[in-house]
Amino acid sequence: MRQIEYSVLVPVYNEAESLAELCARVSAMFGKMGISAYECIIVDDGSVDGSARILGTLIDQYPRLRVVRLRRNCGKSLALSAGFAHVRGTTIITLDGDLQDHPEDIPMLLQALGSADLVQGWRTDRHDTVVRKLGSRVYNWFVKRVTGLHMHDMNCAVKAYRVDVMRALNVYGQYHRYIPLQAHLAGFRVAELPVSNSDRRHGHSKFHTFRYEGLFDLLSLLFLHKYGLNPMHFFGKLSAAVIVPSVLLLMYFVVEQALFLMHRGGTEVFNRPLLAFALAALLLGGLMFTTGFVCDFVLHHVIRARLDGIISMSVASVSGTQDDDPSSAR
Ligand code: UDP
Ligand code: MG
Repeated sequence: MRQIEYSVLVPVYNEAESLAELCARVSAMFGKMGISAYECIIVDDGSVDGSARILGTLIDQYPRLRVVRLRRNCGKSLALSAGFAHVRGTTIITLDGDLQDHPEDIPMLLQALGSADLVQGWRTDRHDTVVRKLGSRVYNWFVKRVTGLHMHDMNCAVKAYRVDVMRALNVYGQYHRYIPLQAHLAGFRVAELPVSNSDRRHGHSKFHTFRYEGLFDLLSLLFLHKYGLNPMHFFGKLSAAVIVPSVLLLMYFVVEQALFLMHRGGTEVFNRPLLAFALAALLLGGLMFTTGFVCDFVLHHVIRARLDGIISMSVASVSGTQDDDPSSAR
C-alpha cells in the first residue's frame, strides 16, 4: 500500500450540509497539487443531524476519506485527539468542517511548513462577531505577554504540523485553543500564515461567545509546563510560605504562655484569635506539602514505568553481550 504523507483532519459536530462540499474541495485541492498520498480523516463528534449517513455515502465516493465516529459528543479537543490516534501521514493539516476555513489554503500551508514545525493560520479577514474578534485580540495579547509567543489568531483551526509535534500535544478539555502554545513550549518552531475565512453558510457555531474558561486552561498549561515534572517545587514553596510564619507565630505564643504561667501577667494565649489563625495556617501548609508529596509519588511511578520501557528497548536494540545488560552490572 502507498505510504500516506498528508493527513487532513477535520472534527465535525452537526455539519451535515457542509460535508459533501468539504470532501469535494479537499479532494480537488490534492488533485490539483498532484498528490495522491493523502488521507482525509473526518471525526464525527457524535453528530445527530444525519452526518453519519452522509459520511457513509461519501466514503464510497472518496477513497481517501476515513471516518472516525465518536458515540457521543466529546468536544472539539477530544475529537481532534481521536483523529490523532488514526493519523497515518507524517504531516497533519487541520481545518474546521463548517467551510469557514478553505481547503484551498493547504498548498500555502505545506510550503510554509518547510521552515517551521507548525504553521498556524491567521484569519486576517475573519468573519465573526465583533465581540469574538475583540475577545480573540485580548486573549492573543495576553498569551504573548505571559508566554512570549506572538500569534495573532491562535484559535484559528487552520494549521499544519509534523507528526512529532502531534505526538507532543495533549489535547483534551478545551486545549485545542492552545495547540501552537503547546508546540512552542515543547521547543518546536511555530510560524504564522494569513489564511482565508468565510461566513458560516450552514448550521450555527457550537461555542459560546464568552469563553473565559480559556484563561484557566492557560494557567493550567503554564503551571504544567513549569512544574509538571517537579510539583514539589511549587507545593513546597507555597507550603513553606505558610508554614514558616505560622510556626514562628506559634513559638511566640508558647513563650508568651510560659511567661503568663510564670508571672500571671499579660493575657492567656488561648483567648487570642491569632492563635487559631496560626494553627489553621499550619494545617493548610501541611496539606499543601502533602499534596506536593502525592503529586511526586504519582509522577515517580509514571516516569519509572516509562523509563523501564526505554531501558528495555535499548537493551533489545544492541546486539547483546552480557555486559550490555544493565541487570548484570550489579
Ligand atoms: N466541533 C466539534 N465538536 C464540538 C463542537 C464543534 O467537532 O463539540 C467542530 C465543528 O463541527 C466545527 C469546528 O469544531 O467543524 C469548529 O466549530 P464552530 O465552527 O462551531 O466554531 P467557531 O468557528 O464558531 O469558533
Ligand atoms: Mg466555525
